[in-house]
Formats: sequence, structure tokens, C-alpha cells
Amino acid sequence: MALERTLSIIKPDAVEKNHTGAIIARLEQEGFIIRAMKRIHLTRAEAEGFYAEHKGRGFFDELTTFMSRSSIVVMALEREDAIAKYREVIGATNPANAAEGTIRKLYAASVGENAVHGSDKPESAAREIAYFFAGYEVSPRA
Ligand code: ADP
Ligand code: MG
Repeated sequence: MALERTLSIIKPDAVEKNHTGAIIARLEQEGFIIRAMKRIHLTRAEAEGFYAEHKGRGFFDELTTFMSRSSIVVMALEREDAIAKYREVIGATNPANAAEGTIRKLYAASVGENAVHGSDKPESAAREIAYFFAGYEVSPRA
């Protein structure tokens, strides 16, 4: 499997609870290389643009209100099989269903406020990384 990139977000609930460092440390332990990283506070419109694929779902307003509530940390992460491996490390969307030891099991409170985001497929990863980072902000090598 070749190197792959995924877009990671540490969501407002986890940043507010000062879990940023613990989550980044865990991701580095799992072999992810941070190619780009920044802390930002999204507007509602920016959160709606990021989650455009979910427009029309019942939780869309709740989700975009939550995601624009306070700051987030966004990262472009790289490793072999990054998309699937990252989703394994974060666990199921609903922390009640997440495996023991996963980031959502450890740090998330509910299906809505679930600590982290991860891309779900290569096309999403490319779109999501480009949503937050200009090309020059993503370092091409260690
Ligand atoms: P994931 O983040 O695991 O890829 P989805 O893409 O299905 O999950 O949903 C995007 C985000 O929307 C979730 O991470 C969560 O914050 C929120 N969400 C999903 N389902 C619900 C729900 N039933 N109620 C409230 N928020 C939800
Ligand atoms: Mg998703």
C-alpha cells in the first residue's frame, strides 16, 4: 500500500477540553506524519461548506453550529493506508459504539460532539485538504 493522506480535525469539544496534545501524540504514535497543521475558528458558512455532503440531513444545523462554536485544529496526515488506519484509530462515529482505546471512545461525549473528523475516501481527503490548506502549506517531505 502506498503512502496516502487524510484530513484530520480535532473538533471544538476536544479542543475546549484541552485534549489537543494528547490526540496529536496518539496520532504520531500510530505512525502519522503531520504534513500541515493549523488552529482556526470556522464561521458557520465555512463549516457548512466543509460538510456540504451532509446538507439536508437532520443533524446538519446541529453539526455546523457545533463546528463553528470555537476553535478546531486541522491537519493533513500521511502514512501507509492513512484513510482506513486513521478511521480505525478514531473509532465509530458514535462513541457508544467505538472500540476500547479509540480516540472517540477516550475523548468523545456523544454522536454529535465526537472529538475528531477523518476523511472517508481518497477523493474526500483531496477535497478536504484543499479546503483548508494552500499547496505551499502542505510540506512535501519530512
Ligand atoms: P464520520 O465523522 O464518522 O465520518 P459522518 O460523516 O456520518 O461521520 O457524520 C459527520 C459528522 O456529523 C459526525 O462526525 C458527527 O459529528 C455528526 N453526526 C453524524 N450523525 C449524527 C447524528 N445522528 N446526530 C448528530 N450529529 C451527527
Ligand atoms: Mg464522514
